[in-house]
Amino acid sequence: MKLLEIKDLHKSYDGESVLKGLSITVEKGEVLAIIGPSGSGKSTLLRCATGLETADSGAINYEGRFGLVFQNFNLFPHYSVLKNVCDAPLKVQKRDKADVKKEALALLQKMGLEDKANAYPCQLSGGQQQRVSIARALAMHPDILFFDEPTSALDPELTGEILKVIKDLAAEDMTMVIVTHEMNFARQVADQIIFMEEGVIRLAGTPEEIFTSKEQRIVDFIGKVS
Ligand code: ADP
Ligand code: MG
Repeated sequence: MKLLEIKDLHKSYDGESVLKGLSITVEKGEVLAIIGPSGSGKSTLLRCATGLETADSGAINYEGRFGLVFQNFNLFPHYSVLKNVCDAPLKVQKRDKADVKKEALALLQKMGLEDKANAYPCQLSGGQQQRVSIARALAMHPDILFFDEPTSALDPELTGEILKVIKDLAAEDMTMVIVTHEMNFARQVADQIIFMEEGVIRLAGTPEEIFTSKEQRIVDFIGKVS
């Protein structure tokens, strides 16, 4: 079952074409990793797919709702951890307060943060803040979760804990689209990998196909970031 279908997406900024006709399909339960050099349009693709930017043309069709996890966590600094997680389900989804709180506490526990419910983001490590933002995204019951370089703002020793959380979600069949520079992670977790360059998909395939590709740009890119 298709959860997301993007067809022929185009986007330019000030006459500069950034997405040049991208098409992507994401099936339920699938993990799609997007790799590619800086400036190739990966964030723009995610921002268009999630409505943070408006594409110039093309079609974006969803079954269900999505969640988004940013590189820089984007938590509300003046809200406690618990309030960060509860905010959107209460305000946007108008769900029952007691239910939302109970579920938020369970999500925090799942993220190993049960003792941080009343802490503020500034009191947490980057890895902990990112786990809060994953709990916050999950609290909205997304059908697809998007991650834009979820570990690139973290110190290297904190990267593993986030990758582990994402791997656990993959094991639970969460449908995910993940922009990442973590090649080993992409190889292990993805069902499908897209290599983007200059606003187009240069190559799409299974991890096996991407990592054994003889195409020089891909070989060079993987060599550079690994
Ligand atoms: P990536 O995430 O792959 O590094 P981006 O999607 O962030 O790439 O950027 C692709 C290109 O679009 C870059 O050249 C970038 O400078 C440009 N760009 C991105 N966002 C904007 C914006 N809001 N205004 C103007 N140019 C932008
Ligand atoms: Mg980016």
